[in-house]
Amino acid sequence: MTQQIKTLHYDVVVLGGGAAGVAAAAAAGKNGMRTLLVEAGPMLGGELLSGMSIDGLLNARGEYVVGGISDELIAECKDMDGFVGPLHDYRLICYVCCDPEVMKIAITRVLARYKVTPLLYTLCEDVVTAGNRVSGLMLVNKGGRTLVTADWFLDCSGDGDLAAMAGAPFEISDPSGDLQPLSLMFRMSNVETLPLLEFARSHPENLAVGESDYIRGNRSDRELAEQIYQQGQPCVFFKGNGPLIQQGLRDEEIFPTALIMIQPTSTARKEVCVNATRVARNINGTDSAAVSGAVAELMDQVWMAARFMKKRVPGFANAAFAGIAPRVGIRETRRIMGEHVLTGDEAVNARKHRDVVAKGAQHVDIHQDDIKQVRIPIANGGSYDIPWGCLVPKKLSNVLVAGRCLSATREGMGTARTMGPCMAMGQAVGTAAALNVQHGHTNARQLAVTELQARLREQGAVLDGVH
Ligand SMILES: Cc1cc2nc3c(=O)[nH]c(=O)nc-3n(C[C@H](O)[C@H](O)[C@H](O)COP(=O)(O)OP(=O)(O)OC[C@H]3O[C@@H](n4cnc5c(N)ncnc54)[C@H](O)[C@@H]3O)c2cc1C
Repeated sequence: MTQQIKTLHYDVVVLGGGAAGVAAAAAAGKNGMRTLLVEAGPMLGGELLSGMSIDGLLNARGEYVVGGISDELIAECKDMDGFVGPLHDYRLICYVCCDPEVMKIAITRVLARYKVTPLLYTLCEDVVTAGNRVSGLMLVNKGGRTLVTADWFLDCSGDGDLAAMAGAPFEISDPSGDLQPLSLMFRMSNVETLPLLEFARSHPENLAVGESDYIRGNRSDRELAEQIYQQGQPCVFFKGNGPLIQQGLRDEEIFPTALIMIQPTSTARKEVCVNATRVARNINGTDSAAVSGAVAELMDQVWMAARFMKKRVPGFANAAFAGIAPRVGIRETRRIMGEHVLTGDEAVNARKHRDVVAKGAQHVDIHQDDIKQVRIPIANGGSYDIPWGCLVPKKLSNVLVAGRCLSATREGMGTARTMGPCMAMGQAVGTAAALNVQHGHTNARQLAVTELQARLREQGAVLDGVH
């Protein structure tokens, strides 16, 4: 049976509804664009729904280095009692914890405010190009095929699908061939905070603390554990080479892992998210069969970790298994090469750039196999700038990228991939697309960065004035 291809037209089309895509679509809509947000999955939010903290919104000094659309999402979470707060890990960073169930509603509200049209259950399978210009995306879903045309296309697919299909150069991994492990988050409710914190305070040898000079100061592990206790939240990171996990390994009660990270998701449900699982076989996240093949092992690890927590970690004895993240977490795939390539050195040295359009503050964070993980702090607890050129792919005129697939080295992406900077980059490309449409630009390089910066500042983005 021959199917007819439907056609649609929008000012701006955003591919991918994760942290970057939600912010990009909201920003484009806020700036007057008819915007379509295309998402392969059944819900918008990507990893914002996994229960993990939103990292990179604040620097380690506790200053917000991202604002604007992220503030609007957080305000909605607060309005629905789904905000735990900015917290400190007394290790490397400060982060924001929200209830992922409430976040689902918050995202929908913010996108509705700016009249963004969502298109779920829909995969972009191809692009239509004319020279260095993309004129349309070929979408496929249960209704058949649709060609959607637009003036500007924003690749927020995490994997850089759109830009790669359109011919932008990209890299995966580095000469090592390594790729960060896959992980599956899970949540446990009815967790008693006090026994957990008392255990943390009395056994600092188990904790990952004071990994940046700025945070450690002259403080001992015991003093940092006391800070974690005083914070009063179930916010504890057990290190893979500490006695708790090492004994668990000898007893075959847990698998090798760099950290068991416990972070709050809901005070009302006494619920935490646990980030512990990992399958480190250099699986390429764009290989759906390989990712699917890791699911059973990840599920086994989830259950093993939950049992371990109940048996060995004070505060978890009466905890209930409360849910698994909506999808396998993929940390690393394509990095689209753009006019500027963010490096790890720029990030850890807190480099500032004249053409800043977003910021990041998370340490360079590259998970490896076994109990290994590269963690390099940002100098003096500060933040670094993400220049405009990181979002402008080489060889393409009307495509911008934001989020995990930004133009960066492996180390640069190892920090900028966190959800705070992803949202900041999303806001930058959504706003840039709107300005381009308004000026009739056909090439991203025609846009005056100063104009983009002015509009971003007006709409709450943080580009300066913080460390
Ligand atoms: C295990 C793990 C732990 C992490 N821990 C943290 C943490 O604690 N804090 C933190 O801030 N960050 C953390 N990160 C990093 C962060 O979550 C991600 O890098 C970030 O969310 C990426 O956002 P994004 O919008 O770029 O991509 P994504 O969230 O991946 O969104 C991309 C979206 O695009 C859709 N898509 C992709 N291709 C197509 C296509 N062809 N057609 C249609 N739709 C498509 C996908 O379905 C997806 O929803 C973690 C990541 C992982 C995997």
